[in-house]
Order: sequence, then C-alpha cells, then structure tokens
Amino acid sequence: MAGWIMDKNVGIYIHIPFCASKCAYCDFYSLVGRDQLMPKYQNALIRQFRDAEEILSPYLIDTIYFGGGTPSYYGTKRIIQLFNALKKYGRVLLESEVTIEVNPDSISLWDLRQLRKAGVNRLSIGAQTANDKLAASLGRRHNFAQVEKTVANARRAGFDNISLDLIFGLPNQSKVDWAETLGLAAALKPEHISCYGLRIEEGTPLYLYKDFPDIPDDDDQADMYLYTVEALHDLGFHQYEISNFAVSGRESRHNLKYWNREEYFGFGPTASSYVGDLRYTYVSDLVAYIGGLERGESVIVSQDDIPKSEQAVEYLMLGLRTTRGITGQEYYRIYQSNFEPIEALLEGYARKGWAVRRGDRWRFTPAGFLLSNQLIREILDAHSEQKFVVGMPWRKNDYRGEMQQIEFS
Ligand code: SF4
Repeated sequence: MAGWIMDKNVGIYIHIPFCASKCAYCDFYSLVGRDQLMPKYQNALIRQFRDAEEILSPYLIDTIYFGGGTPSYYGTKRIIQLFNALKKYGRVLLESEVTIEVNPDSISLWDLRQLRKAGVNRLSIGAQTANDKLAASLGRRHNFAQVEKTVANARRAGFDNISLDLIFGLPNQSKVDWAETLGLAAALKPEHISCYGLRIEEGTPLYLYKDFPDIPDDDDQADMYLYTVEALHDLGFHQYEISNFAVSGRESRHNLKYWNREEYFGFGPTASSYVGDLRYTYVSDLVAYIGGLERGESVIVSQDDIPKSEQAVEYLMLGLRTTRGITGQEYYRIYQSNFEPIEALLEGYARKGWAVRRGDRWRFTPAGFLLSNQLIREILDAHSEQKFVVGMPWRKNDYRGEMQQIEFS
C-alpha cells in the first residue's frame, strides 16, 4: 500500500478527556472524577490505532498533538505508551513535531525527562495568568511559581520548544494586570505564546456571571488584544495567527495544519479528522466511545463530504485567521469563481486600516483581526453570491456536490 506516489504528510491529534478539576470558563470536552476509566480508554485508543494501521499506511506522520483535557494528568507512562503505539502502527517521521499539553500542577521534572527521552519535543503549558488570585478564582490548580518551575524543569529536561497558553479579559483583570502577565510570561523566554480572549460560553460555571460589571467589556478586551500584538512584537514574537505568536521557526506545525486545511486524523471523543474531502467526528461521550470500540462498532457521529463551496468558505475563514492570509489564485483553485467581489471588500478594509496586501496575499491587520467576525461574515456573503465560472467540463467530478447549482459549459 505504501509507496512513493501515495506518501503524504498527516497530523495526528489525540484527545485526552480527563482533568483533575473543572476550570470555571472551560467548555472543552473533559471529565472530572472518571479516572477509573483511564485504563479502558488507553486500551480503546491503542486498539483504534491498530485498527487504523491500514488507513494510516499511505501517510507519513509529521505532527502529533496530545491535547485535552489534561494529558499530563492522564500520566506520562500512558502518553509514552500511546506514542509508541502510534510509532508501531503508523509511519512517524523522526523530525515530527510532538506536542503535549501540560498543566503545571501535574508535571514533574521526572515526567518531563521521560517525555523528552521518548521523543516528545514540544510542550504547551497551560499558564493562563501570572496573577495567582485570578488563577485561583478560575479554578486553576497552580500558581505562577509552578509555571516558572515547569519551564525551568522543561529546559533541564532538554525541551527547546515551549509554548505558554494565556487568557486575557478575565473577570477583575485590569489592563495593567494583563500587561504584567504578558511581561512575566515573556520573561520565561518561551518559543511560543498563545493569547486567547476570554469567551464566556453557555454551560460553563462562569456563564452565571456573564453580565457582571467586573468582566472587562469589549473595548477593554480590544485594548488588551492590541497591546498584546504590539508588546509581543517588541519582545521578538511574530504573530502568525489571530491568537498565536512565535519566535521565528517555532510556529505550531500541528495547528498550522488546521488553518492551512491540511490533512489530520483525530482520535478520542469529540475528535475530528479531515482527510481528502471528508470530515468525520467521533462521539462526544467517553463511555460511548470506549464501549463502541470494545464492541467493534463505529463511534463516528458525523461524516461529511465537504463540497467545494464549503471548502472555499473554510479557506476564507481559516486563511484570514492567519497572517499568511489568502490569495485570489488559491481561492480560484478551490472554487473556480470570481475573487473580485471579495477583493473589492478587502480593498475597502485596507483603506480603513483593517487589511493589507503584500504581493498577491491579503491578510488582516491587528485592527482587522479584532473585527474579524464581522469582516469574515461580509466576505462569506460575497462568496455565497458567487457561482462557479467553470469552463472545464472534465472537472465535473470535482464539483459533483454543486452540480445542482452549476451549469457546465
Ligand atoms: S484544565 Fe483545561 S481542559 Fe481541564 S477543565 Fe481546565 S481548562 Fe478545561
């Protein structure tokens, strides 16, 4: 099956849905108090890797991401066992980027040494804030001294690719406080920083407080965001995505696959895969996931062939999250249609300072990123008015999904 024609790179995401406790703002699929399911989950995942051996065989795995939940809470031995199983059933490239998300309260120097020795080479540390009171109020289980210690331990263990996750716009967080967090985080000299504006999602404990005055309003969040972009730029981090900043060459290769619409396989409850034109997602229920795999049943809950028009929507939405941006040529390659109405909008945004054009690439400025929900909506409206201008009947098969809308000439 494997051969030089078939070889293509792919990313692997493994969802670890266990946490020691639930943070107030969290709407990820993660469970507390279900640790007794860990051994069964481990077996289910390894069985699934084994069953995927043939599907994985045409691919070279060049990124692996253990996300959660809290993979460090799941345990180093289990993570290494999963990594080894992936190496057994898939072709993992030696130069792969292998990331694990860790929380400072569940990772020791010993863990870090074991992980590094096994080949894990990138850490994403859930720091969130340097203000210990704020961290505690959100239900975080660590203080900033533990973040500092984790970074120091990671360096001792040999990690040279460390990312810190931070959140701004927290209840009771002032702009000064956020600036302090950013400064203290940057002082640890990570290679990568992710900064997310707090979004209060329905169903989270924080939702009860969504209208409280001590939550920074949109204007304050906007100020914090623009400050972040400028401050991190001055500190040597370049922005490569709306919320992500890296020193040169340390962008997350795995996350770039999502934004560049490259292929990936996901494993675990809620995980999605995107292969060819197909996207499928696993059930968001750990017990159903384990049970289904034990019985040899499918645990896929949705599966879609993504039509070209939808692929173009994703191209626009995801591309405009990045500083790489979009081009008319790429748009045309996916969805043979006229880019001019979209370009006209972008030119209008450029006049307002929200977008810039470099060569043939369009991207948002930081001010544009702030408005990106609204701007992308306008761009998608312009896209939805487009019809194919397809003059190549031999490409009909590529566009089968849209046949009702198109008249091929
Ligand atoms: S540690 Fe992460 S995944 Fe777990 S509850 Fe907190 S925010 Fe959610």
